[in-house]
Amino acid sequence: MKLKEYQGKAIFKKNGIRIQEGFPVNSVDEIQGKLSELDSSEYVIKAQVLVGGRGKSGGVKFATKEDIEDVAKSILGMDLKGEKVDQILVCEKLDFLGELYVSIVVNRVEKGLTLIVSLEGGVDIEELAKTSPSKVIKMPMSEFSPGSLMEKLKGFEHATELVEIVEKLAKSMVESDAELVEINPLAITPKGLVAADSKVIIDDNALFRHPEFTSQKESELTPIEKEANKAGVAYVELDGNIAIIGNGAGLVMATLDAIGHYGGKPANFLDVGGGASVEKMEKSLEICMKKDPKGIFINIFGGITRCDNIAQGLVDYISKNEIKIPMVVRLIGTNEAEGQKILTENKIDTLATMGECAEKIVSLVK
Ligand code: GDP
Ligand code: MN
Repeated sequence: MKLKEYQGKAIFKKNGIRIQEGFPVNSVDEIQGKLSELDSSEYVIKAQVLVGGRGKSGGVKFATKEDIEDVAKSILGMDLKGEKVDQILVCEKLDFLGELYVSIVVNRVEKGLTLIVSLEGGVDIEELAKTSPSKVIKMPMSEFSPGSLMEKLKGFEHATELVEIVEKLAKSMVESDAELVEINPLAITPKGLVAADSKVIIDDNALFRHPEFTSQKESELTPIEKEANKAGVAYVELDGNIAIIGNGAGLVMATLDAIGHYGGKPANFLDVGGGASVEKMEKSLEICMKKDPKGIFINIFGGITRCDNIAQGLVDYISKNEIKIPMVVRLIGTNEAEGQKILTENKIDTLATMGECAEKIVSLVK
């Protein structure tokens, strides 16, 4: 789960990193009353959305006491790369003498954490890594020590302070169960190094340990997504018309691609997960059908999941609710024969491959 800038900054501050101070508001009226909280006479207004590159898209603007409400109005309600801005962060404007970049990220290939530091921050780090790789320091956190990083930063004026910030950032990451913590830019100011932005992604599997964030996550969900959450299935709403039920994130993603390949558009997708029971499958169908799709594609590769459970869940659903839209089913793997038997007895056909299913459902829905 991605946190908003002000939430990430709060975590950094708690761990001793100096931040660009600010307060979030949802309306222009709240601003004047709170301005005295900031020790500054010039301000930065920043859209609190989860997309990056706000600066370049007009989501970060400077303001004075006089024009602050107009500036705030111009950002509130704007559309930033598809996200509507309903909250802004009113920040103190700092004197920037330079911009650094620092992040720690879970590196699945190396099965550990990777520290990335650049003395040229404020820019697109991936771009810099490509064009000037020598300007980006990358090291496994397992090899990090204040001394080892100092060595790499030899000659840099703010090296000692930067190393301290890396230690605090690492602490922030562990404390919040994050898979990514990033400060871009870490501003060089007359007061020292200051985190002027934050990007924090919390590992969803650890969200149960952070109820302070889940309440926000819950409010961002659609009613059907909330119901799916309760039922323990991963469900995502999309804007097409073909419902997809699969098991396992990889298979579900491949199914989305297959539909797209044949020119169709998914209405939603639902991952029943490993070892889905008869009841879970029935509930999954109920959830998927709420979006009123024009077709449905069930794609199961039985491993821990048993094909007979999936088939029975489908039959149970149909016995209570008529499915009036085209449906294609691919059911292979554990207990495939038992599953096929249940479907045949109930006059439900299956196709052998994902490609055939995708092609057929797209043609039926068109
Ligand atoms: P992003 O574009 O979404 O990453 O938003 P940032 O919070 O990183 O802000 C974008 C840019 O605005 C930064 O890289 C800075 O160049 C600039 N900026 C933000 N806050 C300040 C500030 O307090 N002072 C100055 N001089 N520039 C700022
Ligand atoms: Mn930034």
